[in-house]
Amino acid sequence: MGLPGAGKGTQAEDIVEKYNIPHISTGDIFRAAMKNKTPMGVEAQKYIDKGELVPDDVTCKIVEERLEQDDTKNGYLLDGFPRTLEQAKQLEKMTDKLGKKLDAVINIDVDPEVLVARLSGRFICKNCGATYHKLYKKPKVEGTCDVCGGHVFYQRSDDEPETVKNRLKVNMKMNTPLIDFYKKLNLLHTVNGDQDIADVTKDINKILTNLN
Ligand SMILES: [Zn+2]
Repeated sequence: MGLPGAGKGTQAEDIVEKYNIPHISTGDIFRAAMKNKTPMGVEAQKYIDKGELVPDDVTCKIVEERLEQDDTKNGYLLDGFPRTLEQAKQLEKMTDKLGKKLDAVINIDVDPEVLVARLSGRFICKNCGATYHKLYKKPKVEGTCDVCGGHVFYQRSDDEPETVKNRLKVNMKMNTPLIDFYKKLNLLHTVNGDQDIADVTKDINKILTNLN
């Protein structure tokens, strides 16, 4: 778990490589289920075609179809699931039934203020489209595009601080009940995501090693 931009993807890649387990990302398995026309994939497609949200029970069954596969017998990493309390409850039931219960839930905790700076820093040269970042990729000469020498820059609405703040707020509101749920189950481990990526990896390794 973690807010967008907290570094979940990077840490997930590291974990699946180290433990040689499948990376189960809901986006990927949805696309696969629909492409392979599995019973639940067909079901999900109906909602998507109508422009509606896929209901929790369909989403959960797609995850269940994936967890039933053989490559999860030595473990798996879930990414992007569960997103709601209802999904979390159903996940408990299905992993119990399959004998593939969760060992840990890792929450990468980041200061939202830091995230806003990170996620809203992107700006673009209006003349040539070169992209820059206020923190990570500044033009060599302030206010001048490295590529074309232009002086006019803009931000995509997705990258504007207000948009980013709202996106984070929505995510925080969704995460709170899940955090409480996993705390009660004694599965929640929180790592400080404001550190360097390598230190976050180290902390996660410590948690996972202590589980064995
Ligand atoms: Zn330019």
